[in-house]
Amino acid sequence: MTLPSTYADRNCSLARALEVVGERWTLLIVRDAFFGVRRFGDFATQLKIPRAVLADRLKSLVREGVLTRDDDAAGGVEYRLTAKGVELWPVVRALMHWGDAFYSPSGVRRAARHDRDGGLLDHEGRCQECGAAVPVPEIRLEPGPGFDPEGTGHDPVSTAINTPRRLLEPIVTPRTSSARGREAGTRRAAGTRRAAEPAG
Ligand SMILES: [Zn+2]
Repeated sequence: MTLPSTYADRNCSLARALEVVGERWTLLIVRDAFFGVRRFGDFATQLKIPRAVLADRLKSLVREGVLTRDDDAAGGVEYRLTAKGVELWPVVRALMHWGDAFYSPSGVRRAARHDRDGGLLDHEGRCQECGAAVPVPEIRLEPGPGFDPEGTGHDPVSTAINTPRRLLEPIVTPRTSSARGREAGTRRAAGTRRAAEPAG
């Protein structure tokens, strides 16, 4: 679509994959979807991306089956990762790890832990506590030693993202109806209980 197609590209799945996620902003939108961002305005706030570009990228990700676009209970629209989209997590994780290794001298910017036992995940996503290959919804991200509080926004979406939380857990910003806020509060409480259980 956006990259010129060559004969060499026809037999390279990396070239095909980059047609879907290789444009500027696209993987950042996918990353934010992993962080729990679901609404157009929240993506726009967090990424400071031109709205026309955001609309274009979201449309393309929906067309490729990476995101779904659904009406939410409050009469708005929500974008969520599909199963196909969730399979991009190792790509996002590997690029974050590479960025930490070469461009973050004071350490990882975001640490990944197994929400159940608090074990740190290695660069392949395996829990160093229980040895499990941790599924995406059980991964908790939290600011690491390389995290720079000055280098982040202070809007509700950024604040939520920079607070330890599980991947895919929806971010509920103040505009949302109180009913959905209560629902999310229940899920958070459930997550806390699980985290408090002993390991094993
Ligand atoms: Zn574990």
